[in-house]
Amino acid sequence: MKRTVKAEIIGVGTELLLGQIANTNAQWISSRLAAQGINVYYHSVVGDNLDRCAAQFRESQHRSDVIIVTGGLGPTEDDMTRDAAKLLFGRELVEDKASMERIESFYDRNNRTMSPNNRRQSLVFRDSIVLQNHEGMAPGMIVHHEGVVWVFLPGVPGEMKHLMENHVLPHFSEQFGLETEIVSEMLRFIGIGESQLEHELYDIIQKQTNPTLAPLASEGEVGLRITAKADSRRTAEKKIKTVKNRILSRVGEFYYGSDEITIQEKVVELLTSNNKTVTAAESLTGGRFIEQIVSIPGASKICHGGVIAYSADMKKEMLKVPSFLIKKYGTVSEECASAMALNAQSLVNSDIAISFTGVAGPETSEGKDPGTVYISLQMGEQEPITKKFQFAGGRETVRTRAVKKGFELLFHNLKKA
Ligand code: ATP
Repeated sequence: MKRTVKAEIIGVGTELLLGQIANTNAQWISSRLAAQGINVYYHSVVGDNLDRCAAQFRESQHRSDVIIVTGGLGPTEDDMTRDAAKLLFGRELVEDKASMERIESFYDRNNRTMSPNNRRQSLVFRDSIVLQNHEGMAPGMIVHHEGVVWVFLPGVPGEMKHLMENHVLPHFSEQFGLETEIVSEMLRFIGIGESQLEHELYDIIQKQTNPTLAPLASEGEVGLRITAKADSRRTAEKKIKTVKNRILSRVGEFYYGSDEITIQEKVVELLTSNNKTVTAAESLTGGRFIEQIVSIPGASKICHGGVIAYSADMKKEMLKVPSFLIKKYGTVSEECASAMALNAQSLVNSDIAISFTGVAGPETSEGKDPGTVYISLQMGEQEPITKKFQFAGGRETVRTRAVKKGFELLFHNLKKA
């Protein structure tokens, strides 16, 4: 078991208290520490006042394992950080030669005269780890005091970030043996809503801390990101596998793949492995289903083509949907959808056919509301599977959702095949 490291961040500067600047340093440092598995318990801000600064440092020494102080390392009298820390550490401040040389050469290069105050910026605690600041003047410092790691960084965000990334975070990894390998896997589900998925997995999602689980809804499907931290990639992957198996034992029937795979690719993969061809008879989707199939490499093995039959006449002429059927039930009907799929199957000579007919909107059609869509799936000689859907949204959304639903139907039925 790794021990929990308790960290806190102190911003020094009256301008922070006056609201003249926001404490973006604390925000940035917190997010970097969280990513490394270090828990930040407090953010404090203290003005440029020696007594209050020293009091804050004493309090922090008692409650935290790691304390990061930003600001107040400048050359002027109101830069208090060193003096306040000196009261706590009781340690001598000495001039850091490398920092002094850098400051001197800065003044030389810029033909400026150095004031005695500038020497203050090169002062560091005896026996501290000095972090050379190549972006500015004052060096950073890491001081170990009575079991607590103190880090002092300049307030200027660019300088602070540079020292954190290059010196402080690597030091923490070494010091605390942190779990720095972060691995994640995105599980992709179709045919189950986000709230239903969360409901099925409620206890796992609630209890899980490492790996963490984050559901993510996108158009017509749901993702679940599993993120594990460990000291090696292998261990992180093992942790993910254990949780993934638990999840799939409950909702595995809706899972189609992980990470970069799309449902379209999965369907093409299943058709290929089942050695089946697919065609589509498309009305409101206007060829979009076939377009998505064809955009996947290897599609030529599983698709010869499809039919776009948008008007009632085209449905009759190209797809041989009987006139009486259209007259009796309309083009937006279960009967028409089934006839479209069945006839496309023989016309294009495919093992499987899918059809889409409906009202994309915004107007109603044949007395049916926008978003009413029938999709029919004809698999070999089996009974057709024809379903009615009511999609919300504008014309584009209805068409997009209809196509996605078609892939969902195909996926679930191909898996059973
Ligand atoms: P240096 O000696 O490198 O100039 P310093 O340690 O003396 O820096 P301060 O004088 O406290 O730092 O702050 C310098 C500038 O850095 C501030 O004017 C402000 O713009 C920015 N700064 C300071 N603290 C923060 C903070 N907590 N969050 C964001 N910006 C900050």
